[in-house]
Amino acid sequence: MKWSNWSGEVTCEPVQIETPDTTRGVAALLKDAATRDLGVRVAGSGHSFSRVVETDDLLIDLQRMGEIEHVDTASLRARLGGGARISKIGAPLAAQGVALLNQGDIHAQAIAGAISTGTHGTGINLGSLSSAVTGLTLVTGEGQTITCSDSEESEIFHYARVALGSMGVITSVEMQMRAPYRLRETKINVPLQECLERTPTWRDSHRHFEFFWFPYSELAAAKLLDETEDRRNTAPLRHFIVDQMFENTAWWAACDLTRRGWVATPKVARFCAKAFSESTRVGHSHEIFPNPRWVRFNEMEYAVAAERGPEVFLELKRFIEDEQLDVVFPIEYRYVRGDDIPLSPFYQRDSAVISCHVFKGKPFERYFRGAEQIFLKHGGRPHWGKMHQLDGAQLRALYPEWDAFHELRQRLDPRGLFISPYLERTFGVSPARLGGDGRSTR
Ligand SMILES: Cc1cc2nc3c(=O)[nH]c(=O)nc-3n(C[C@H](O)[C@H](O)[C@H](O)COP(=O)(O)OP(=O)(O)OC[C@H]3O[C@@H](n4cnc5c(N)ncnc54)[C@H](O)[C@@H]3O)c2cc1C
Repeated sequence: MKWSNWSGEVTCEPVQIETPDTTRGVAALLKDAATRDLGVRVAGSGHSFSRVVETDDLLIDLQRMGEIEHVDTASLRARLGGGARISKIGAPLAAQGVALLNQGDIHAQAIAGAISTGTHGTGINLGSLSSAVTGLTLVTGEGQTITCSDSEESEIFHYARVALGSMGVITSVEMQMRAPYRLRETKINVPLQECLERTPTWRDSHRHFEFFWFPYSELAAAKLLDETEDRRNTAPLRHFIVDQMFENTAWWAACDLTRRGWVATPKVARFCAKAFSESTRVGHSHEIFPNPRWVRFNEMEYAVAAERGPEVFLELKRFIEDEQLDVVFPIEYRYVRGDDIPLSPFYQRDSAVISCHVFKGKPFERYFRGAEQIFLKHGGRPHWGKMHQLDGAQLRALYPEWDAFHELRQRLDPRGLFISPYLERTFGVSPARLGGDGRSTR
């Protein structure tokens, strides 16, 4: 049985793939795995670029646990099955009077998969999806079902909101929402210099702000999203044909020309920067946030302190240009509000988030290695679902509550059922199940 992530870069052959439909079913699978000495990983929708899901043992997929379980319109909270796809919940939640506070670039993720890596959108006053979590139900490596929140099992709740699937299988997630809202999206092209000058103002005066910079150009495409009472004017068919089909196909063709070496990358990147379409539209929040991403790529992303964002971005730009790197995909620049989640990249720090993408099939090692050195020099923390090269010792230095997280993780999963070889290196731990003594290897 083969499993592959979205980009196709990570593949594995688990001995068993299971799709339970109840929390009790999950607990039974975990107990069985423990008796057979199998490791366990949980997959969301496989949209992580890093090897966080990879396993040769048991893979659990909660696609049959994707219901909206409960909506409380007084507290504006909703409880969702861990496997609920974000794309499937927007409209039904709105019909029941609630909406997610923010969303990322795409909506293909399962909710538990998204929160387990600290998935985020953009907006300096808006935290990651994990920061909106108010309660979790998880099944631990010992087969125990725990319901946790700020007021119940609060220590577990504190740590489990971003845990890369290492504290247990999350079968249910309760989230703070808000009343449904409409957003006006404005996309404009501006000279990069002007964009950087306006970045602090745009960051503070719009609900959401981000920009894209195409390498080798001096142009940026800025995206501004604000709440509006205006009527919805999205034309789904036009949007599908023009923005999705046409732009994605043209973009794929441009990337492929550079992959085949038929046209020089800087030429294509500069052409694409000029061709980026400007537009305005109004729609329900769940319609406006996600973008179609048909062109496959690999990605690295780091979060740095918000005030250092522009400086780090400029250093990255210089690196690409000086080294004449073969990069056609734009750099994406966003903001995320800080939070109190121990393994969140935004822990106690409002952050600027900078993402580097490489078209699938093109080498990314030199680019990502160099970019990573720049990010680390500025105290950056990597996105858990995207590519990075850090090991446990390096990550420990970035996360003040690292040891406390691992003490609790080990208490909940003493044999290291959820520790795959990838997590063994990333966490710098040596679980009993893989022949270690269960302690940190640092
Ligand atoms: C095209 C594209 C665009 C993206 N855009 C953004 C973006 O805008 N912002 C952003 O922050 N990220 C973005 N990402 C990254 C993505 O949001 C994260 O990697 C996210 O974790 C993927 O969710 P998933 O459901 O696919 O989870 P997976 O990748 O399948 O799993 C991620 C982690 O969650 C764990 N997990 C999954 N389900 C459970 C569960 N039920 N219980 C416990 N652990 C679980 C897995 O074990 C794994 O550790 C993007 C990725 C792609 C491919």
